[in-house]
Amino acid sequence: MTDVIVIGGGPAGMLAALSAADLGARTVLATRGAFGGMAANDGPIPVRALSQAARLIRDARQLGQYGIAVSEPVLDYRRLLARVREVVDDVDAHIAARERIDALGVTIHEHVGSVRFADPHTIVTTAGLRLQAEKIIICTGGVSRRLPVPGFEFTSTHSDAWRLTAVPPSMLVIGGGDAGLQVASIFNAFGSQVQILETAPRILLHADDDVAAAVAAAFRASGIVVRENFGAIESFEKTAAGVRMNFSKGGHRGSAEAALAVMAVGWTADTASMGLATAGVELNQRGFVEVDEYLRTSAPHIFAAGDVTGRLMLVPEAIQDGFVAATNAVRGPTMPIRDRVSPSGSFTDPEFGQVGLTETKARQTGNIVTAVVRFDSTTRTIIDDRKFGFCKVIADADTSRILGCHVVGERAVDIVQVAAIAIAGGMRVDDLAAVPLSFPTYEGILFNAAASAAWQLGLPVVWRAHQVEGQWQGNSATPPGAVPSGVTERGALSMQAS
Ligand SMILES: Cc1cc2nc3c(=O)[nH]c(=O)nc-3n(C[C@H](O)[C@H](O)[C@H](O)COP(=O)(O)OP(=O)(O)OC[C@H]3O[C@@H](n4cnc5c(N)ncnc54)[C@H](O)[C@@H]3O)c2cc1C
Repeated sequence: MTDVIVIGGGPAGMLAALSAADLGARTVLATRGAFGGMAANDGPIPVRALSQAARLIRDARQLGQYGIAVSEPVLDYRRLLARVREVVDDVDAHIAARERIDALGVTIHEHVGSVRFADPHTIVTTAGLRLQAEKIIICTGGVSRRLPVPGFEFTSTHSDAWRLTAVPPSMLVIGGGDAGLQVASIFNAFGSQVQILETAPRILLHADDDVAAAVAAAFRASGIVVRENFGAIESFEKTAAGVRMNFSKGGHRGSAEAALAVMAVGWTADTASMGLATAGVELNQRGFVEVDEYLRTSAPHIFAAGDVTGRLMLVPEAIQDGFVAATNAVRGPTMPIRDRVSPSGSFTDPEFGQVGLTETKARQTGNIVTAVVRFDSTTRTIIDDRKFGFCKVIADADTSRILGCHVVGERAVDIVQVAAIAIAGGMRVDDLAAVPLSFPTYEGILFNAAASAAWQLGLPVVWRAHQVEGQWQGNSATPPGAVPSGVTERGALSMQAS
């Protein structure tokens, strides 16, 4: 009998198979479609390729500002999709994990159709494969959530972008989370008239308040209609030109219409046809596979990893989960999941990224300071004329440790990566501010904000080139389109020149 079967070939499954085999287990991976899962074939990689096209259109329009004459960019959507396919294939050919998995002797069954449990140790696939193992790791990811409203079949998901032959003239994006905003931003750049409809009081409900406000303001300024708190969806219907969404709010009816309605209302586990009850695997109230801290399901020999568990649905989390689940499956429950520093971001225009606590959450933990540096006050952003945005650093007022970082603007996601390193390393704001940097850089904005926070905490600040720029003293900086963050001033400041 095989030691470990991994179901699903996305990032979680890939790492689970690799780790199990690395620990000496005879391992088999079975996946419905192509190896790589949603991340490689339908998620971040193709979506990032589309957003790169959107960014190039934006950058091409800036060329005149620097004295370079070109005509207005024209998008050939079919050619773009061919490029996306090329990118996906190229990435696929260079996945280092695949080589390692092959070298470790893992048997991979791709395109076997859906897997389901025949009994607690046996799986069968729609292609007729039947496998048995001591331990099984479920890594089947998720699917776009469906809403039980009439006419839902007339809506699309982000995956339908691959089937379009041309850019739709207009688009409703229903859901103002990360995924919806990426679709909206991309197709706005491609020339669609985009409306985002969010039922909550604001878009980006889980982001820092200032980030959500600044992104909404920037999207509106770029021509996207952002309708927050729009009400409840009643139905969708087909029209001659596309789709109509009917909704109601406070007893009043309304509708919105476009050539395409893209649903981005959340993600749910992909387990419906897996026969989990046969294996004794229970789901939680949200419909995801219930796991303990060792990623064990309610059946002790079956583990789950990645999106299917419904925790942070990101590639780095899925990869970590795969490793932890495989280690526990092979060695017994020895490796609990620890709190992780989880940076995230969206490649929209403007970009936004975050790591750690939002200001609201941080305030609930105790005394904090916040420091905000505006993009229009720093050298590199002025050189590149990317002046929209801000970087906010939140620090614990007692320990001076960095609790969170939130950025809107050019290279926001990259800036946040540096903040993630600082948080993971337990750095204090004055430690971060003291790190020497090249000049002028986007990352300098973060260090400048760290210096501002250190100053507020009365900590010695070693002057660096990037701190000469930026209007952070005395909290004069307020992010564009956002409310002031209310920095707490504390005591006298001591400065140290370098
Ligand atoms: C539009 C979009 C953009 C995203 N952008 C980012 C980003 O920028 N950064 C980031 O970190 N994350 C991003 N994500 C999230 C990221 O893609 C997921 O968190 C990640 O892919 C989860 O990995 P996984 O292995 O759990 O699942 P998946 O990647 O979904 O892989 C699951 C695999 O299991 C297979 N499978 C499912 N059911 C069965 C079955 N019954 N039998 C056999 N096989 C089955 C599937 O076919 C698939 O191959 C994005 C997601 C979307 C939708």
